[in-house]
Amino acid sequence: MKSVDITHRLNVFQEACERLGLKITHQRMEIYRAVIMTENHPDAVSVYHRVKKRIPMISLDTVYRNLKLLAKHGLISIVGLSQESLRFDGNMTPHHHFACVKCGMIRDFNSPAIGHLPIPEEVKGFGSPVSVHLEVKGLCATCKKSSRRN
Ligand SMILES: [Zn+2]
Ligand SMILES: [Zn+2]
Repeated sequence: MKSVDITHRLNVFQEACERLGLKITHQRMEIYRAVIMTENHPDAVSVYHRVKKRIPMISLDTVYRNLKLLAKHGLISIVGLSQESLRFDGNMTPHHHFACVKCGMIRDFNSPAIGHLPIPEEVKGFGSPVSVHLEVKGLCATCKKSSRRN
């Protein structure tokens, strides 16, 4: 992401925190920046490693608590539901995911067509739909290449 975009998104983030009554701390800003800087949908440990370069004293627990807090307030989102490795997503615009079943790589893609798919009647019995998210599972290009070599 371009640095102008990052600055813009950090400003938007600050405004959102103010609106939500969340304290804007240096740590919190750096944690958010670490999530939006990458397209990798990082887990807490990789966010921690990134932030640690800028704030050496930070603990994994602090990073984890902040990520959960940001997700709770809708500033980032949680991808997947496996408790042992929550992944975080800084892209809050509607989008879909490609997930590699081997290495866990997750990438965003857009498809207006998928967004407009008719929602089955059955779903309406569960509640009111807000958005449609599609996950395409597969082998990423890197994993595909290495499996061909073996
Ligand atoms: Zn892969
Ligand atoms: Zn995403």
